[in-house]
Amino acid sequence: MVRDGANVAMMKKLGFEGFDPAGGKVLMRVDFNVPLDKERCITDDTRIRAALPTINRLLELGAGVILMSHLGRPKGRIDQTFSLRPVADRLADLLPVPVKFAQDSVGPDAQKKASKLQPGEVLLLENLRFNPGETDNDAGFSAGLAGLGDLYVNDAFGTAHRAHASTVGVTAHFNECRAGLLMQRELEFLGTLLGKAESPFVAILGGAKVSGKVDVILNLLGKVDILILGGGMIFTFLQVHGMKIGTSLLDEDSTDVVKEITLKAKESSTQLVLPVDCIVAKEFSDKSDKKEVLVTDIPDGWMGLDIGSKTVVRYCEILNGARTVFWNGPMGVFELPSFAGGTRAVCQAVAEATDKGAKSVVGGGDSVAAAQQMGFAERISHISTGGGASLEFMAGRDLPGITALANV
Ligand code: AMP
Repeated sequence: MVRDGANVAMMKKLGFEGFDPAGGKVLMRVDFNVPLDKERCITDDTRIRAALPTINRLLELGAGVILMSHLGRPKGRIDQTFSLRPVADRLADLLPVPVKFAQDSVGPDAQKKASKLQPGEVLLLENLRFNPGETDNDAGFSAGLAGLGDLYVNDAFGTAHRAHASTVGVTAHFNECRAGLLMQRELEFLGTLLGKAESPFVAILGGAKVSGKVDVILNLLGKVDILILGGGMIFTFLQVHGMKIGTSLLDEDSTDVVKEITLKAKESSTQLVLPVDCIVAKEFSDKSDKKEVLVTDIPDGWMGLDIGSKTVVRYCEILNGARTVFWNGPMGVFELPSFAGGTRAVCQAVAEATDKGAKSVVGGGDSVAAAQQMGFAERISHISTGGGASLEFMAGRDLPGITALANV
């Protein structure tokens, strides 16, 4: 549906065209699940900043904005360690208007503050997950939330793959539901990849285990021209192809599915590309002995922790000719500087392809972190904010939060 990208009508329906919230109260789901340190100070406010365009647009349109989010996993109990209060303070620094804060989400404080909210004002509710009704998608909790606003906007792509009260249950109570600007951008970029991506379309998938990426790999076969693999997952492929992998990561439960992927790739129009060499080490440590070997020559007792230089050259050549790129998952243990080279080279190649006009999308926590740490994030067309959600989307699954919006 939406994921076809071709579905312009759907994007129109979810977008802000014809949306007139003036004088009303918009209940808006945001993703303010930010990292906090021991003193409960926010260590990265990217997610708060990402919601600003939609909040500001709604304020400009003359709405009062009631924001709701989860933070961490308080498991349905009030736990001040997970209070959204620090987020309200940070948000107040970033917005041109004061930010009110309700000490609950559907209780008396939220009801009182929401009922008094005026156009142009902002109210943030306390952590939704202090109430078990949120993750249970409870009808009563959904109704309680919905009662606070007149219109609903969902800008939390990162939680769109969860059927919770604030993403799904609540939508049943509104005549008008829209996607926020951040959500719209996610749907446009990811939707285009699965719909009308310009060829050559290259997907590059890495990360630790095959099991986490199987559905994405299977869904992309036949949709992308070239599917490049890297990271720990390649060793399961190499072993299935009869090679010795030493002490490298082996995802034993995935050997059957690796055979299936290999077979399907042969039958599809997608070229599946595996590394030809890798960096091996004796131990999982930055200080370990290491050397570069062909994937056919991995010595006993050594583990592969990054792709090798011949592979890097090959992958960069492929990426250099791409018009569309989707990248998820590091090529090696990029957290250790000795094994970050493959990920850095690939990231740079994605940025260079983008400089030359390719459309590039990076999704998933670790590849996003790598792109940011290595200084290439600004040169990527779109960095997806939702790791789990973007993978579910790329695996071709319906995201309950999007389906609920679209069905209103
Ligand atoms: P994922 O969450 O599945 O995308 O996996 C990301 C993790 O994969 C990172 O923490 C990397 O350190 C790890 N990783 C990448 N390559 C390897 C490898 N060759 N061996 C072990 N772990 C790896």
